[in-house]
Amino acid sequence: MSRIHRLPTSVVNKIAAGEVIERPASVVKELMENAVDSGATHIEVSLKDGGLEMIRVADNGCGISADDMPLAIAAHATSKIANADDLFRVSTLGFRGEALASIAEVSQLKLRSRTGDSDVGHELLINGGQLEPMAPCGCPIGTVVEVASLFFTTPVRQKFLRTMQTEMGHTVEAFTRIALAHTHIHMVLRHNDRVVHDLPAQESLPSRIGSFFGDDVRQALIAVGGDDNGVKLDGYVVDPIHSRSHNRLQYVFLNGRHIRERSLQHALSEAYRGLLLTGRYPIAFLNLSMPADAVDVNVHPAKQEVRFLDGGRIYSLVLGAIRNKFLTTDLTARTQTADSSATNLGSSSREPTPAAAGTDWRGPSAPLVATHHQLSDYQQREMSLSDDRRITDWTAGPSMLGRSSLGGADSFRPFPDQAVQRRVDMPEAVLPPARDRGRALQVHNRYLITESAEGIIVIDQHALHERIIYEQLREKVLSGALESQKLLVPEPVPLSPTEFALVAEATGTLAQIGIAVEPFGGTTMLVSAYPAMLANHNPAEMLRSVVEQLNQSDSKLERRDVLDELLHMISCKAAVKAGDRLTPAEVDALIEHRTLCQDAHHCPHGRPTSLVFSREELDRRFKRT
Ligand code: ADP
Ligand code: MG
Repeated sequence: MSRIHRLPTSVVNKIAAGEVIERPASVVKELMENAVDSGATHIEVSLKDGGLEMIRVADNGCGISADDMPLAIAAHATSKIANADDLFRVSTLGFRGEALASIAEVSQLKLRSRTGDSDVGHELLINGGQLEPMAPCGCPIGTVVEVASLFFTTPVRQKFLRTMQTEMGHTVEAFTRIALAHTHIHMVLRHNDRVVHDLPAQESLPSRIGSFFGDDVRQALIAVGGDDNGVKLDGYVVDPIHSRSHNRLQYVFLNGRHIRERSLQHALSEAYRGLLLTGRYPIAFLNLSMPADAVDVNVHPAKQEVRFLDGGRIYSLVLGAIRNKFLTTDLTARTQTADSSATNLGSSSREPTPAAAGTDWRGPSAPLVATHHQLSDYQQREMSLSDDRRITDWTAGPSMLGRSSLGGADSFRPFPDQAVQRRVDMPEAVLPPARDRGRALQVHNRYLITESAEGIIVIDQHALHERIIYEQLREKVLSGALESQKLLVPEPVPLSPTEFALVAEATGTLAQIGIAVEPFGGTTMLVSAYPAMLANHNPAEMLRSVVEQLNQSDSKLERRDVLDELLHMISCKAAVKAGDRLTPAEVDALIEHRTLCQDAHHCPHGRPTSLVFSREELDRRFKRT
């Protein structure tokens, strides 16, 4: 081993650069933070090739005086703190004094700046950490930092860079975070001379959210707020009709700094518990402000993580504020407004709910999302369940189950779980125009007759209903969201050895459609949960039908095909039968949902669901032509 020696500054800076500057996005973040700290009201970010080629950040802030320019790019040089105590009084985004030094060490950096009290600006070039002589130049008040050939001094780091698209994605994310945290600043993002974002100054947060995440999200924002002992929360959460399969749309800002904080992500999940399906994450934009000494921001080089003095209090503040807001918000009204604007339907198209007539009907005109009373009830039931698979005991709440028994007129449940379905980001512009409703006639308790522009349509009520259920089921199974109903008393089903083997082999597939089985000694299977849609079927009978289905299936069938067969079976069982008398509202609902089907013309078995008698044909038959 050689003797201990001090590392040259350039090596120290490279080590620091490794921590702070990971990719082009880190450069954008640091330079934008400096611009915000400079008091700028206008910040322009320009990139070439996702920032791999060039990054330029220009601001109209306070600028750097000629004397300070060389210091600005020196390591551990900052104007933002003076002593260790200041670390707990940080009110700026930067304070470590290492960003510019780090970037300059691993790139070709050009710094150009002018302060308000100087007539000229100055330009400084640093080439892989090597300072070149400073020169005066003409420039507006403010600062421009241009970074080229990033990582040219550290080829290893360069190898870790991804494609331009990936780097651009990270860079846009860095821009988004700062733009959301500082809505008063005019911010522009350019990529290869194309304007990606141009966000006006003094913008409202919802408007900025809309620019990044679209109008759907903006219209579904719900304001939340609260405070507790000097800690203040404000911002927006998004109506549970919108969710994501990841938690990246959970933006939390602390004193203007974007942070990622596990406990706050957890608070969000808790607040939405029961409102989102497993695997879905809420969307939120939350601002926390608190005295600088209530938090330690100096625990992470990129300052992404922070340490709260009283994390528990902040957790409760966030959870409590959102939960209370939900319990006092009528999400129904919101959804209906959103729907009518999305579909361009006036309120006149909202017919009175058939439920008003005293039935338990939950057709499409009924609230699509539980009202707040139901919501809290639902939430409570959900909250008492810890099982992640969310086997839900619906027996407690008849409201979601529709009518109570299958087999007669009272059995009709075309949308047994409308409210739940609604939470799976169902496309919104789907309600058919009002004139298509209320025009079908049931005949012989088995066919529905309606008209279209082409002619007369005769619909097989069972086949159509089966198709509707099948599509709904399939969508849920594919998204892993099928509701399963837990049996209060699991039911043992004796099987033959072959049948037992078939079921054992298909256990995983069965679980996907909500049927939970387990061996129960010998060749008996225990059914402990089954699809909520089949609430009124005998579980033993149902398992036997499954076995029958498995038996018939070609052994070479793909697992997916077996699943499909089982879905057909369930839809068939859950659908109204030929011979069931339907109420006008039920007829209407079937007709309405017909238009939502991907394939409304065939039942899952391939039989037609409807026949069309064209006007031409009718005219011909009646010898009108
Ligand atoms: P820090 O931001 O942690 O202080 P930096 O290396 O990012 O460290 O910047 C060093 C110093 O250079 C800052 O403290 C600030 O005084 C000055 N500076 C950097 N960028 C700008 C800018 N855009 N406008 C004005 N001053 C700047
Ligand atoms: Mg900085």
